[in-house]
Amino acid sequence: RHFLARIRERDGTYNSFITVCETQALADAEAADQRRAAGEARQWTGIPFAHKDLFCTRGIKTTCGSRMLENFVPPYDSTVAEKLRDAGAVCLGKTNMDEFAMGSSNENSYFGAVRNPWGENRVPGGSSGGSAAAVAARLAPIATGTDTGGSIRQPAAFCGLTGLKPTYGRISRYGMVAFASSLDQAGPIAQNAEDAALMMNVLAGFDPRDSTSIDRTVPDYTATLGEPLKGLRIGLPEEYFSDKLDSTMGDAITRAIAELEKLGATVKNIRLPHTDLAIPAYYVIAPAEASTNLSRFDGVRYGHRCDAPESLEDLYTRSRAEGFGPEVRRRILIGTYALSAGFFDAYYLKAQKVRNLIQQDYVKAFEEVDVIASPTAPSAAFPLGSKSKDPVTMYLEDLYTISVNLAGLPAISLPGGAIEGLPVGLQLVGDYFSEDKLLNVAHQFQ
Ligand code: GLN
Repeated sequence: RHFLARIRERDGTYNSFITVCETQALADAEAADQRRAAGEARQWTGIPFAHKDLFCTRGIKTTCGSRMLENFVPPYDSTVAEKLRDAGAVCLGKTNMDEFAMGSSNENSYFGAVRNPWGENRVPGGSSGGSAAAVAARLAPIATGTDTGGSIRQPAAFCGLTGLKPTYGRISRYGMVAFASSLDQAGPIAQNAEDAALMMNVLAGFDPRDSTSIDRTVPDYTATLGEPLKGLRIGLPEEYFSDKLDSTMGDAITRAIAELEKLGATVKNIRLPHTDLAIPAYYVIAPAEASTNLSRFDGVRYGHRCDAPESLEDLYTRSRAEGFGPEVRRRILIGTYALSAGFFDAYYLKAQKVRNLIQQDYVKAFEEVDVIASPTAPSAAFPLGSKSKDPVTMYLEDLYTISVNLAGLPAISLPGGAIEGLPVGLQLVGDYFSEDKLLNVAHQFQ
């Protein structure tokens, strides 16, 4: 009730929600009160949260930030939604996002841009910008997000929060609207590492409905919070801490790492030699997968349908042209081109080979260190409109985050300081399934 009132009062400013589930949330709160009175409350009973509007929620609109799905009401729940509901959590609503999760500033949403609570003329980051702004403005205590190339970590960094992108396969993708299936992964956006760990306890685990989910024991992510950091080996990639790094950002991150050294960590310079190839490889692979995933939106089965089509071709063409925004159309065109006969080997196959090299860089690095540190993003939250004119400028935002998705590794962004009153994210990348370790480091740092 507290959070619903705050959303009503303040979200006019932030635009962080696309749908508020007022009636359902009040009914769920009532039911939670009764369970508590009956002595049946569990850890998550009555805990409010917000869902990125990419998770299918039965009976609740799931737009993915797109006109294409403006009126789409899924007939089923995603595994993530089902698990939170079964745990007793109360969904406050569905949060704003870049259309189909394509973007780094939340300016690509059909439902309008989101404002960053730390500076209302700044972007909250993207694509999970609504989830991050809602948690930062205390409109929700915690939210779900998804991360294909940084969309949990970069908004968490811009909004002063903790965001965890788990190992690929750790959380089921069933019922998530697909962007790039080999990169997409769900995770928590939270005020701190402990809350993120509590949400991971609910979300992680094998799901037979997602063939890429991994059957592996799920630890209690809260159990290791508080283990001493003594002996933790932190790697600093030379490629990241170069003269290309903005010096105020470099200073902030260096200070944060010095704090970790005080807690017993040691620091070592490492190399990730294929760093420069991550953005080009990602921006071939992600659009290629997106172009195939988005082919299902044809105006026939579900989603937007144009008025009075004259032929089948006209139905497809106009429904898609009207339903998709400019960035989504750009990605579909790039992806279709990269996959087309005659170009497949030169682009998609080449990008997959580069992806393998990037992954091998990490495998080598983790022989020497436990975690790899960097800024989460090249700068703090930038002003609304400052990068939206030029897609390549926007793509460069993802420098530190996307190679992690290409390799399928887990990574966390935690509040790592501030530049001129705006929060800065410290990113820590860990080896496969080291979410517990990343959460512990973030917990101690806070
Ligand atoms: N900014 C990246 C993109 O636009 C990553 C987005 C994401 O992680 N969903 O593709």
